[in-house]
Amino acid sequence: MQVATGKSILNGIAIGKIKVYRAPRLVISDAMVNDVEAELARFESAREKAVAQQSALYDKALVEAGEENAAVFEIHGMMLEDDDLIDAICEIIQKQQKNAEYAVKTACDNQARVFAEMDDPYMNARSADIDDIGRSMLDFLMGNDLSSLQGSEPSILVAEDLAPSETVRLDKSLLLGFVTREGSTNSHTAILARSMNIPALVQCGEASADWDGKTAIIDGYNSCIYIEPTEDLMASLKKRREEDQAKTALLQELKGKDNTTIDGKTVKVYANIGGPSDIGAVQQNDAGGVGLFRTEFVYLNSKESPTEEQQFQAYRHVLESLAPKQVIVRTCDIGADKTVDYMKLDAEENPALGYRAIRICLTRKEFFRTQLRALLRASAYGNMGIMFPMIISVRELREAKEILEECRQELLGEGVKVGEYEIGTMIETPAAAILADELAEECDFFSIGTNDLTQYTCAIDRQNAKLEPFSDTHHPAVLRLIQMTIEAGHRHGTWVGICGELGADLSLTETFLRMGVDELSVNPKSVLPLRKTIRGINLKNDPCGCGGS
Ligand code: PEP
Ligand code: MG
Repeated sequence: MQVATGKSILNGIAIGKIKVYRAPRLVISDAMVNDVEAELARFESAREKAVAQQSALYDKALVEAGEENAAVFEIHGMMLEDDDLIDAICEIIQKQQKNAEYAVKTACDNQARVFAEMDDPYMNARSADIDDIGRSMLDFLMGNDLSSLQGSEPSILVAEDLAPSETVRLDKSLLLGFVTREGSTNSHTAILARSMNIPALVQCGEASADWDGKTAIIDGYNSCIYIEPTEDLMASLKKRREEDQAKTALLQELKGKDNTTIDGKTVKVYANIGGPSDIGAVQQNDAGGVGLFRTEFVYLNSKESPTEEQQFQAYRHVLESLAPKQVIVRTCDIGADKTVDYMKLDAEENPALGYRAIRICLTRKEFFRTQLRALLRASAYGNMGIMFPMIISVRELREAKEILEECRQELLGEGVKVGEYEIGTMIETPAAAILADELAEECDFFSIGTNDLTQYTCAIDRQNAKLEPFSDTHHPAVLRLIQMTIEAGHRHGTWVGICGELGADLSLTETFLRMGVDELSVNPKSVLPLRKTIRGINLKNDPCGCGGS
């Protein structure tokens, strides 16, 4: 058995025979031409066919991958109409007297290079789009037909790279998964594969033409491909695949449906994420938005304190990718169990009760302001909520809001665009729950962090496995604090969500709905099971099933 690793773009399993996919090589001559007018006409004809092809691909992707993902082909259509690109190609044909193939390749390569050299990873990935439209025009100019490359049996394709248009053109009934040596997890190829639920690895440098015809398993969970796997591995990954298929069936059944109970109460079901790499999971699981973006992972994944620009890029990417869905970003909750060397935090006797989250932010103001400025800049690119963790007093919340407002004024003064955003407070300390009436006056929403709320209410260290026999995740004191918080929020027009793990506990969903919760934010995998549970609840039924008057 051989194991090769790459970057996974979907948590899924594909099992089957490998087919090495070889796009026709583009051998382009740079010979001079005599008939410039004829070359211009050949280019124009290929361009028109490519425009028509992108429009057909848009229609196909609309059905297979949804509107958001099909949009790339609309953009390709516009790129093909771009005057700068057309002029650059015509100029090469006219001034250098080169053939249409050479002109298309040269002009597209030049434009792709400009994108590839930009600092922004999103813009880098756009260079693949230019390559794709160039390739499409070249295929028409050179009479290449890609339809025979896939073979006639369902297989795992192994290729140097795949363009978005190739990915959509592939026959899905014959495509189990794919592995490419090149590519990026941000590219439209990756986005399309994710939305079409195709397990795939990109940047798999070991991918080889020798694999052709061999049995293989793509294990998207572990970002690897097994060539000629052992029987045991095959059996265990087949089981995992069956579980995935059951989930996919659930997805098909529930995708796009409302989170509405039988008697008509609708709640928002959002997902919790740790960074841009979770965007795919939010989309795949059809979450209505993000209820908790734990930004401390942006800090934990960095060797030095991330700069305002680095943070802005990460937040913008998440907001832009998910717009118009709401994304609630929690300001940095570092400290306690989440520490990084560069913060130089002292060791503490009781870290969970110590210097963490808002306590660090309100005392290291420059550190806080860096994040707030990045968030405010990103707010112009989507629908943002900003919330503060570990609040225990109105004073803290007011101070955090004041610093946020100072940053906003500062950015506006610099001529930087800032969007609209809601402000929220995490309710994860008993103090915050008890003061919910006062805190509600200061913000638009609450998000109840049941993990810490349970830890602090029951005085049970959430990290200490020895205390498990004493812990009760349904502790009545915690449930009562949740109810008090929801009621207090609603008295002041503040909507209330739950983003701790308890939100995914399906045995409590009905209880939370009866309490009046407005939103439940759970790990992406729990979104659809939660939706199914909500849709089976009838709040008009007697809650205890005991009748009564
Ligand atoms: C919580 O405490 O419930 C919560 C959502 O925050 P974290 O788990 O990140 O502390
Ligand atoms: Mg918490």
